Amino acid sequence: MPELNEQTDHFAKNWQQQLAEAFTDIDELCAYLNLTALQLPIAKEAAKTFALKVPKSFAEAIEKGNPDDPLLRQVLPIRDEMRDYPGYSANPVGDLEAANAAGVLHKYHGRVLLINTGSCAINCRYCFRRSFPYADLQLGKEKEIGALRYIREHADISEVILSGGDPLLLSDERLQRLFRQIAGIDHVKRIRIHSRLPIVLPARITLGLLDVLTQSAKPVVMVVHCNHPNEITERVAGACRLLKQGGIVLLNQSVLLRGVNDKAADLIALSERLFEHGVMPYYLHLLDKVSGAGHFEVGEAEALALVRHLQAELPGYLVPKLVKEIAGADAKQRVL
Ligand SMILES: *Cc1c(COP(=O)(O)O)cnc(C)c1O
Ligand code: SF4
Repeated sequence: MPELNEQTDHFAKNWQQQLAEAFTDIDELCAYLNLTALQLPIAKEAAKTFALKVPKSFAEAIEKGNPDDPLLRQVLPIRDEMRDYPGYSANPVGDLEAANAAGVLHKYHGRVLLINTGSCAINCRYCFRRSFPYADLQLGKEKEIGALRYIREHADISEVILSGGDPLLLSDERLQRLFRQIAGIDHVKRIRIHSRLPIVLPARITLGLLDVLTQSAKPVVMVVHCNHPNEITERVAGACRLLKQGGIVLLNQSVLLRGVNDKAADLIALSERLFEHGVMPYYLHLLDKVSGAGHFEVGEAEALALVRHLQAELPGYLVPKLVKEIAGADAKQRVL
């Protein structure tokens, strides 16, 4: 398909540049969106501890002039972040304790999580990593050798999950090397990538990356992160199509967020739109109770009611599993 290839090549030249040109200044983002600071409860102070970062490709999907846009709400530092909510803390999911000496998170049976990079292409205000020193955990060269040795020595590890930060911020060469090394470990059956890049920076899905993924000796599962149907632009749809054509299993995880996707209609539209582009709903997460994100919380009872509504309207396979993370538990906890 020459058209797609052209489009992809055009993106290939540009993803690093697009990343470098992401909005990091609140005033610039507001001006771009035709919004004034007066229309928004902006808190520049909140951006000091966790910076604003929004790629243009995501900003393009935000409705101009709408202070309540569900995409804007995910990225704009606002005054609510400065409030203390009971039960919220800096490290709610206990990853700090779980990260072992080899720099891998081995919390669940058979699956190990590699933190390859501490950064992301976008800063989501509700992220449980917002006040977590992930940069300290990321794999440098020696740590990577140690992590791979750990995986080699644990024959019960059948799946390696590249997470972060966002593993697709690594170069194609770095990913290629990692994939080859993992391919050499017999007991590993699958490689999984957790990434928000296909959604927020679809230009990252280059032909070079597709080569790495499609030539992998182990099946590749990619779990993208999309919260609202408006995030699935034409370019995002194109990126998903390319991944799907490459034989990658595509799943989506969302976080249930007040003011973003807390209406059944939004979640139904999200599932429909994901499926339309070859992505299956996987998880709908209850918010991790990280300091600064309390205003995003949707309580468990309301979440249950929402998912029951989804069950009543969608085929079962389009209903994401409602889960929450409990520090120290041996799996994500199913709520429904
Ligand atoms: C979420 C998570 C996984 C993957 O869990 P699945 O239920 O298999 O998707 C693995 N390791 C860690 C540390 C996690 O947080
Ligand atoms: S992309 Fe994922 S890891 Fe990165 S800030 Fe957003 S939610 Fe957090």
